[in-house]
This record gives sequence, structure tokens and C-alpha cells, in this order.
Amino acid sequence: MSRRRQIYEGKAKILYEGPEPGTIIQYFKDDATAFNAEKKGTINGKGVINNRISEHIFTLLGHIGIPTHFIRRLNMREQLVKQVEIVPIEVIVRNVAAGSLSKRLGIEEGTPLPHTLLEYCYKDDALGDPLVAEEHIACFGWASQEEMQDISAMAIRINDFMAGMFAGIGIRLVDFKLEFGRVFEGDFSRIILADEISPDGCRLWDIKTDEKLDKDRFRRDLGGEAEAYQEVARRLGLFPEGVSEVTDLNSERKKRGK
Ligand code: UDP
Repeated sequence: MSRRRQIYEGKAKILYEGPEPGTIIQYFKDDATAFNAEKKGTINGKGVINNRISEHIFTLLGHIGIPTHFIRRLNMREQLVKQVEIVPIEVIVRNVAAGSLSKRLGIEEGTPLPHTLLEYCYKDDALGDPLVAEEHIACFGWASQEEMQDISAMAIRINDFMAGMFAGIGIRLVDFKLEFGRVFEGDFSRIILADEISPDGCRLWDIKTDEKLDKDRFRRDLGGEAEAYQEVARRLGLFPEGVSEVTDLNSERKKRGK
């Protein structure tokens, strides 16, 4: 196969030019970073699992009418998606206090919030993705007010759906991050859900034990991160053949020297 043109390499994914105009291939790596890439490592098989989990969630969100960039999964580590112009805002949806919210406001981790909280961060690694208000977003033209209405309404629907889905498999959806993009149709553009949804960008706690099943295991050196990601996939009913195939495939890849 001819080598595809690489468009961008991020912390957890590589983007390649897709087979048709307006499409992109997302390749999911095992690389993990935290604290704005100050901490680096790998989580064995993470890319394969995140590809499947994200496919699963984006497909279900599509079924409830959320427009997404997802087209189809191509193989264990790649999916075909629509090319979008990324809105430079990370949307953080919170149901329970944790992480930076707990630190910033001195609220104990695990405190349920009286209602879902939406926060916005400006996507800029050099600045450390600072928290911004909707006023900043409007003032600097990162997204229009109309776009922000679509984004916030979608984020709330996505949260309602995902919180229910995870509760059904014994997982509390504490918080998560979403990214949106613009697709252009003639003179108009519309907002669709982009990027990925996986344990890399969600806090997922076991409902009974509060055990963390997400990237905090890596961030906080708790160990067992690969097993935690596998557990989320298993509870979602993915990899019915057994997740060992993930690591098997990994070692095969290594043998081929790729
Ligand atoms: N998050 C993310 N990417 C980021 C920042 C946050 O995926 O660049 C996710 C993170 O995994 C968590 C949620 O957004 O599920 C809220 O993160 P928080 O603001 O508490 O930041 P953190 O404590 O991870 O620095």
C-alpha cells in the first residue's frame, strides 16, 4: 500500500489524509501523556481499545441524532472520519467534582454537583489549555454565539446519554472532554462532534468501589491502566472474543517491526 500523507501528529493520535476529499484517517497510538505532556508513557493496547470504544460511542450518539465526524472503523487502530475545522475549545462536562475543578475551587473529589457543569478551555498547548468564559470565546471569535448554543446543547445531550449508558454497566461518568468541528456546506457551516470519546478523556469510576477506570491511573501512577481500559471495553460488550487479542496484535506488530 502506498504511504499516506500524514497531516498531523498529536499526543494520542496521528491524522492521515483520507481516501476521498473531505475525509481523514485517525490512527490511535498507545502513547499516553498527562499534565500538558510533562509526563509521557505508553499504555499497551490503548490505541486498539480507544478506537473501538470511540467507534461504539460515536455510533450510538449518531443513533440518537447527534451529528458526528465518524464514518467507519477501518481496522484495529484506524477509523475514517469527516474532515472538520476544529473549534479551538475543549468542552469539559462535569457531573461530579474531580481533577482541576476540585483543585481550583477546593471541592473534595467525588462530591456530586447539583447540576451538570459545562466548562470551556482554549485549545493551546503552549498556554496549557486555559479555562475561558463564553465571553472570551465570543470576544476572540473562536466560535459564534450560535455555534456555542449548538455545542452546549449537544454536550448536555451527550452527557445525558453517556451517563445512562455507563450507569447501566456499573460506571459513574464523573467528567469528560469533547471537541467539536465545523463542516462546510456551500456558504454555510454546521457543528458536528469530532475527535474521540475514550477513557483518555473521561473520568470513569466503578459505581460500587469508586475504582478509577480511566487515564487517572496513568496520571496518578496507580498502575493497571491497560487493564482498566480493557475493563471498560469489556463492560461495553466490545471485544467479545477476549481483549487478549489486543495485546496479541500488539506483539505481532512489534515483531513486524512497525
Ligand atoms: N481532559 C482531557 N484533555 C485535556 C483536559 C482534560 O481529555 O486536555 C478530560 C480529563 O480526562 C477529564 C476531564 O477532561 O475527564 C476534566 O479534566 P480536568 O479539567 O479535571 O483536568 P485534569 O485534572 O485532567 O488536568
